[in-house]
Amino acid sequence: MITAPEASLSARVNPFAPDPDLQVWMDGQLVPVGEAKVGVFDHGLLYGDGVFEGIRIYGGKIFKEREHIERVYESARCIALEIPMTPEQLSAAMREAMGANEIVDGYIRLLVTRGVGRLGIAIQKAACPSVIVIAASIQLYPPEVYERGLNCVTAGTLRNHPQTVSPRVKSLNYLNNILAKLEATNAGADEAILFNPSGHATEGTGDNLFVFRKGVLRTPPVSCGVLDGITREIVMDLARRRGIEVCESILIRHDIYVADEVFLTGTAAEVVPVVSLDKRLIGDGKPGPITKQLMADFVAYRSE
Ligand code: PMP
Repeated sequence: MITAPEASLSARVNPFAPDPDLQVWMDGQLVPVGEAKVGVFDHGLLYGDGVFEGIRIYGGKIFKEREHIERVYESARCIALEIPMTPEQLSAAMREAMGANEIVDGYIRLLVTRGVGRLGIAIQKAACPSVIVIAASIQLYPPEVYERGLNCVTAGTLRNHPQTVSPRVKSLNYLNNILAKLEATNAGADEAILFNPSGHATEGTGDNLFVFRKGVLRTPPVSCGVLDGITREIVMDLARRRGIEVCESILIRHDIYVADEVFLTGTAAEVVPVVSLDKRLIGDGKPGPITKQLMADFVAYRSE
């Protein structure tokens, strides 16, 4: 039953409110987070019309900056969104946001929205895209998760078909992923693995998928409908440097159940072990040696 809230909506206290001292870079200036407001007519809000990036800062440096900037321009190009800044200006904006908040190890959320416009989905109804840069801290999973590994479920929610909004576009609409994550939470699991309409494994709700079996490390090809992850690329390279055979191949649920090891990769999660899928233990149900090796290699790589 839906009951009326006791307090007025505007009097509610948000337990997840950001640190009020946070400075956000918005369309050319730094503003306190309380004043960093998106208009209700912004098509990013009205229609999820926009793109974003999540970027790490390690030791005061923007990690894989060029790759993230390239990807945000590619995402924008795919949705015919013109970013009203040059890559150099974007980079300077990220540095300003980082500096203003004295972030040495943290995370940048870069967003480009279609901007405030008229009602109606036509992109001609919004002529001024907005650029927002948030530099803050992040902890996706607590440290114990990296020790014990994630318990996952198969999501009933399918990954976007590549012929809808391509999963290569990091768009402001993550509802598929959000619903898959909810399925995991409802099942008492940590994370969900999404499949495509052909039944092929794609990725987690915000991370790429790797499966290790009999000496070969496999990850679904981007054409299966996955984000072309920047961490995915690094981890494939790190594995090859260890002499491990790496290939991009179609994987079905069975391949995950019978794997020796499984892990996910992403900017926020980095490299995180997966120890079960649908209550089937992967290997012996503990993070395996290859996963641990690549986790360590990633830590060394990011601080190079
Ligand atoms: N897949 C999805 C759906 C993502 O949102 C992300 C980024 N969080 C990734 C994979 C991992 O990509 P990257 O390593 O570039 O962060």
